[in-house]
Parts: sequence; C-alpha cells; structure tokens
Amino acid sequence: MLASLWNPEAENMTRAELRSLQFDKLKTLVENVDRESPYYHTKLREAGVTPEDLKSLEHYQDFPFFDKDEERKSQELSKEELGHPFGMHITCDPKLVNRVSSSSGTTGSPTFSGFTRTDRAIAAENTARGLKRIGIEPGDVVLHASVLSMWIAGVPAIDSMMAYGACVVPVGALSGVERVAQIAKETRPRMIRTTVSFARHLAATMQDRAGINPKTLGIEKVVVTGEPGGSIPEIYSEIEAGFGGATVYDNMGATGCHSPTGISCAAHAGIHFYAEDNAYFEIVDPKTLEPLPIENGVEGEIIFTGLERECGPLLRWRDKDIIRINTEPCDCGRPGVRMTFKGRVDDMLLIKGVNVFPNAVRDVVNRLSEQTTGNIRMVLPKPGPVAEPPVNVLVEHIKGLSPEQLTSLAEVIEKALHHQLRFRAAIQFESEESFEIQTGTTGKSKLVEVLNP
Ligand SMILES: [Zn+2]
Repeated sequence: MLASLWNPEAENMTRAELRSLQFDKLKTLVENVDRESPYYHTKLREAGVTPEDLKSLEHYQDFPFFDKDEERKSQELSKEELGHPFGMHITCDPKLVNRVSSSSGTTGSPTFSGFTRTDRAIAAENTARGLKRIGIEPGDVVLHASVLSMWIAGVPAIDSMMAYGACVVPVGALSGVERVAQIAKETRPRMIRTTVSFARHLAATMQDRAGINPKTLGIEKVVVTGEPGGSIPEIYSEIEAGFGGATVYDNMGATGCHSPTGISCAAHAGIHFYAEDNAYFEIVDPKTLEPLPIENGVEGEIIFTGLERECGPLLRWRDKDIIRINTEPCDCGRPGVRMTFKGRVDDMLLIKGVNVFPNAVRDVVNRLSEQTTGNIRMVLPKPGPVAEPPVNVLVEHIKGLSPEQLTSLAEVIEKALHHQLRFRAAIQFESEESFEIQTGTTGKSKLVEVLNP
C-alpha cells in the first residue's frame, strides 16, 4: 500500500520530471536575482557567468557558491546602505517581509532571514509534507518542546505547524522538565517536537523530577531536529523506549532553502528528502567543491538552492553538512532520495591527516558499551581543525563503576576509535552524576570544547 502523502503530485515526480521542473524554476530564479539585485548582477559577472549561460542544470555548476561569511558581509552592508538586515542579495521590497528569523549566532553575529508570505507558504507546504508522512493530521495535538525563539526551529516551526492545522501547544524547552511533563499530561499530545538532547533528558528525568512516567503520556511520535542523534540507533531507541514505544522521526531542514526538506520514517533508514520541486540540491566534494553524481552511496557536502525564494534567494548555498545519498527504495514505500548526515564540514577535525567528525566519535562510543550514557565531548587545547593526538575525549559513564572497570573501558574505547576512525584518543571519564552537557543557544549539545579559544 502506498503511504499517504500531502502533495502526491510533487512528491511522486520521476527524476526526469523533477530535473525539467528544477531547470525551469532555476532559470527564472537566476534571471530574477540578476535583474533585481545589483549585488547578484556583479557577483555573477565576477564569476564569469550571466543568466544566458544557464543552458542546462549542468551549467549551474559554473555558478558561484554562497556561504555564511558572504551572507554576513552582505547583511553588514545592507544595514549600512539600505537600513535593513536582510542583505544586499534580497530581491523583494523589504516591506513584503512578513516574518524574520535569525541564525543562532554561535559563530559570530547573527544573520537574518526575511520571509515574505510566499516564503512562509513554502515552509508551511514542506512542513505539511513531513507531518502527513508521519501520520499527523490537522487537528492533532502537537507539543512544541523546543526553543520559542526566532531561530528557525522555534517560532517559524510553530507558524508552519499552525498553518497545517495542527493544534500546537508551544510549551517551549526552557520552561523545564516539570512544566513540559505537566502540560503534556493535561493536553495529551500525539506528537512532541524537540531536540535530541531534550528528548533524552525528558525521558531520563521526568519520573524523578515531575513524578510523571513519560510512558503513560500516550505520545506516539517524537520529532527531533537540529542534531544528528535522531538517526543513530542507540539514541533513537533510548528515546523510543523512554516514551513507551513512541517512534522517533529525524527532521531535516535546509538553511539555504529556509525550509524543512525531509523526515525519516519508522524504518529508520535515512531521511526521505521530499522537497526537490522547491529545494534543489547538489552534492560536491568538500575539498575540491567539484560536483559529484547523485547516486547511491555518494558522500559529500550538500549544496542548496531554494527555487522559489522571494526574500534573499541563496544561489548554491554551502550548508557545510556532509551527507550520504541512498537511492534504493525504502521499506516504507515512501518516495524520495534518502540522506544520512555524516558530519559538519566545520566540525571536521584533522588528526594526523585523518578526517574525524565528533559525532562519529560519539557513535563509536555509544555502540561499544552499556557502561556509557551516550554523552561525550572532545576537549581540545586550541581551536581545530588540526588537532594533535592523543585527543582527549571526555566520556560520560553510568553510576557505580569501579576504577578497574573504567580502566578497561578506556582501553576498549581507545582501541575502537583507533581501529574505526584511525586516530589516537585519550579517554577521560565523568560520571552521569557530574557530567555537564554544554549546549549552545540553540539547545544542541556541544561535542567539542576548546580550552583556549
Ligand atoms: Zn522510509
């Protein structure tokens, strides 16, 4: 039986139909930015291209990239010259901006994204596709236990879920475990939307802190976003068990398209990308930035272009995520290329010439032993990407282990990291009673700590 889809026409398109549609929309977009934004007009010519050069999707590979640094500079300039923070690359009247979101600003001053009504409608459409795929219907109660800020997973996500017709309960995450538990008990949500860290925290502490067993809340679906743990078996299984057999769904958003673009399914077999008709993606080699084919097993940095973006379209946005592509049909029967997150280009460490992702370190530690809790932090003396071995990795362990048990556990982890990720680590331990999870402003747990930034 075919799973039910929100927009079957768009979501069931063949690759040939998609490519044709993507090219038409891309052509219109490139002509538009060239005409409406003097900034883009100059940028394209400096890169040696004009809209006329876009004769096929392949020709788009000659067009220049856009990234966070450039966005920040463009916005510094527009604040000075135009009196708004949306950047020199916007192509709409700033008066049409109807909602503003901002990046977390963990790596510098925040950047802003303006949404026109059309931009909001596209984000809402993509959100609807994700909700429908996991079986949430308009009218279902959805508990939003994530940030309530202008960060894209905060109020903008609430806006889109409300547009779908869900009964959104925006309890937030900062109100604490007791409050979230109480509100969940009273409102009986079918779905809770939160971060991986907070979902684990809720499952682990709700009984002790609020006297409410999360298994009794009747929550069927836990949608996690913003962190890779939602696709890691040890982590989603723990959350699913903690909520009494709920299913965890990993939600993916594309910064370059300002929109959610995919969600995993109950088969936990990667994230189904469901928005190719409005969110064009390319895969490139992260070192050379040369394009790679969209084929099964291909791994590289993902590049996004929001095809229908009105305010501040980003041509070839470098999201800095490394993704693995899976084009095999999924057991669930839902269409769409599947993606698995491998790590952040910016988090990638270079240890004696070997690329190491902190989330991969966490995965290895998680798989090894029941004696660890899943939390780790790599502790570097100075900022990466180059780090000298042995690299200190702080691992959280369960209560009650003897010094002998810890010594042999350290040996096992060090061996596994050397064998699987090819770098030398020095394991240090902290008990679950004292390990402090460091989080950024977005609520994501930090996997790297730099002692002398
Ligand atoms: Zn599936």
